[in-house]
Amino acid sequence: MLGPVILAASRSDAMRRIVSAAPVTKPVVKRFIAGETVQETLPVIESMADRGLEVTLDVLGEDVTDPAEALRARDAYLQLIEAVKPLGLAECAEMSVKLSSFGQALPGGHDLALKNVAPVVEAAAEIGTTVTLDMEDHTTVDSTLAIHAELRERFPQTGAVVQSYLFRTEEDCRRLAAAGSRVRLVKGAYKESATVAYQDKHEVDKAYVRCLKILMEGSGYPMIGSHDPRIVAITQELARQAGRKLDEYEFQMLYGIREGEQHRLAAEGHRMRVYIAYGTDWYGYFMRRLAERPANLAFFMRSLISR
Ligand code: FAD
Repeated sequence: MLGPVILAASRSDAMRRIVSAAPVTKPVVKRFIAGETVQETLPVIESMADRGLEVTLDVLGEDVTDPAEALRARDAYLQLIEAVKPLGLAECAEMSVKLSSFGQALPGGHDLALKNVAPVVEAAAEIGTTVTLDMEDHTTVDSTLAIHAELRERFPQTGAVVQSYLFRTEEDCRRLAAAGSRVRLVKGAYKESATVAYQDKHEVDKAYVRCLKILMEGSGYPMIGSHDPRIVAITQELARQAGRKLDEYEFQMLYGIREGEQHRLAAEGHRMRVYIAYGTDWYGYFMRRLAERPANLAFFMRSLISR
């Protein structure tokens, strides 16, 4: 019941000020955020790579309100790519970007976001890695998928994300499951209305499995973004049925969530990619993690009480 309330709060500036100023917030945020700067985050990436995990890196930020901020987001990714280059980890470190941080919601935002993100995708390709376009609320899906299609003309490895809670997503999966595509399937993390999205968790899970089946039977590269043990098990079974080898799909989980499972899957020979978010603009990302799971919220509440 609290999930929708927290998701609404994730877009409130007043709540942002209250939560950000609370002295207990930072230690809890650290569970989900790898650091505030690139320098703090690089050792985390190296230690993951040492343990056989791949990563996708997100410079925190979303919903920018002026073009200068969008340029700063672009530059932050370019700096990140420069910092990753000497580590020699390009093969296992890709980038995840939110187009709203590249100006997608501003006037002329579609073209602006494409113009700002293209140099990032190009710089990533130059060091031998890729970029995946995170998916945000449903009003952005058409624009994000169109930008994805345009980027793929020059950089075919560019990844897309689809959210099983949206009614439209099975159809999107059918279109995206083509050779050479990289598609991350998630359940969806935003507050969406009953006109566009399943509201019942069970329906979202069933839709996830339908989408997963389409992606697994297709000829692209499915990326399974979920911590759900049933989804992990179903993925393994569907991959087996589709005759996919272990390197023909991958699991993805968020930093700080089910770490034991991440290591278990990697040790079994699966490709396991951890989504690492870092930066100072953590509020929206953090609130979505609290909304996803009562236990995350309880962890936050306990730390309030135990001080
Ligand atoms: P849920 O449906 O939340 O939970 C199902 C079960 O999983 C639980 O019952 C429990 O057994 C297990 N579980 C879940 N969380 C935990 C936990 N913290 N500890 C222990 N067990 C747990 N959403 C978007 O809208 N756009 C994106 O671009 C996007 N990118 C993502 C990238 C990655 C790599 C991942 C993993 C998620 C991403 N998400 C994104 C978030 C996603 O949409 C879900 O909100 C989030 O993953 C929660 O759904 P779930 O499938 O993990 O499990």
